[in-house]
Amino acid sequence: MVRMPGPSIISCAGDGVNGGAYWVALGRAVVIESIRIAAGAVGWWNWEQMSLGKQLEVGRRNQSKDFRRRLLGWYDRHARDLPWRESRDPYRVWLSEIMLQQTRVAAVIEHYHEFLRRFPTVERLAAAREASVLAAWSGLGYYRRARMLHAAAKVVVREYGGEFPATAAGLRELPGVGRYTAAAIASIAFGEPVAVVDGNVERVLQRMLGERLAGEAMWDAASSLLDGKRPGDFNQAVMELGATVCTPRAPACLTCPVVEMCATRGELGGAAKLAPQKKREIHYALDRRKGSVFLVQRPRDASLMAGMWELPEVEGGNGASSPSFTLRHSITVTDYTVRVWRDATPSCLRGKWIPLERLGRVALTGLARKILQKAEMP
Ligand code: SF4
Repeated sequence: MVRMPGPSIISCAGDGVNGGAYWVALGRAVVIESIRIAAGAVGWWNWEQMSLGKQLEVGRRNQSKDFRRRLLGWYDRHARDLPWRESRDPYRVWLSEIMLQQTRVAAVIEHYHEFLRRFPTVERLAAAREASVLAAWSGLGYYRRARMLHAAAKVVVREYGGEFPATAAGLRELPGVGRYTAAAIASIAFGEPVAVVDGNVERVLQRMLGERLAGEAMWDAASSLLDGKRPGDFNQAVMELGATVCTPRAPACLTCPVVEMCATRGELGGAAKLAPQKKREIHYALDRRKGSVFLVQRPRDASLMAGMWELPEVEGGNGASSPSFTLRHSITVTDYTVRVWRDATPSCLRGKWIPLERLGRVALTGLARKILQKAEMP
């Protein structure tokens, strides 16, 4: 049996000798465990001959390796079967990463195939009209992303001959591609060893380390754990763990592959309480005549969903005692109760009668599409 090193080593780790705050934060039990394993690996005699700094270094390396092995093993067995994981084609990886920003996976799955059917290559996307791109994006929200996607496709075709830059630094030159997205595409599509940090990664690492890291310290922590041989899989594995096991509320620690290395094994104490959702009621008029529906266009300079088409918003029913139907809709921090009234459009309102068969090609807001679907207008 391997004899444990003396307690002085542990207390030195706590003082940060060669260890740094990052590893100290892993917690005493974890450090003891990693040193025990490391000592076993090198043999006890050799271990005792090592300097304290060398012992800590070996312990750290061992700890990172074990974390990567457990996490990737779990990911290989349990990763969700998502359509964008079938390919490492940078166009598809890029598209999925942009779609997944601020949008649920289920909603992205619905739109991903259809978007690729309409625009199967970056060249086809670059050549499309903006209205067609926005129409294909309809339902995903945050339409600025679609405009940036379109602009970036044009840059890739015009300046890079249709080939995406193969590094995170090169990808950041594209419109709408920030640090996270560039690292995600570079690691997944091109195997560049760069770490990602998003909300899921932050939560997992903060709980693992028992420390509220932020900014560059968080990027450093993610980079130091990264698996250099499988960077894309590793990045996806940490995000997958955050999305399915280490969830914001009630993490499923009993099924977590790295539970033995986790400093908190639960939510990090002192977490700020989530702000309660605001409630709002809004009313829309739904007018249908001769196979067309009346829609209005949002101003071109609107801060949200500029230029998109929607049903006219009204004060309330046009003398009717109850709405035709009601539905719920949430946008970021607001939960809307949406009441829809038939034949309530004020006659002075400027808009257009759009034939129902053309609706699929119109850039509708997500809420407008939801209302029309509920009213069974395709
Ligand atoms: S043990 Fe729990 S808190 Fe720690 S990483 Fe796993 S799921 Fe998250």
